[in-house]
Amino acid sequence: MAVPKKKISKSKRDMRRAHDALPSGSYNECPNCGELKRPHHVCQACGYYDDREVIEATDAA
Ligand SMILES: [Zn+2]
Repeated sequence: MAVPKKKISKSKRDMRRAHDALPSGSYNECPNCGELKRPHHVCQACGYYDDREVIEATDAA
């Protein structure tokens, strides 16, 4: 089995992990109210989905 010759320093380890962060989730603007909403999800601000289809109206922020 191949074994690393030298211990990877904390610095080198952390430099490698500098690119490991997950990208933040995508958000789209709600066509009805302009609030940011997740794609394919009902808008949490106005309860609209797919143009003018009211599914639910959540008042609590
Ligand atoms: Zn909306």
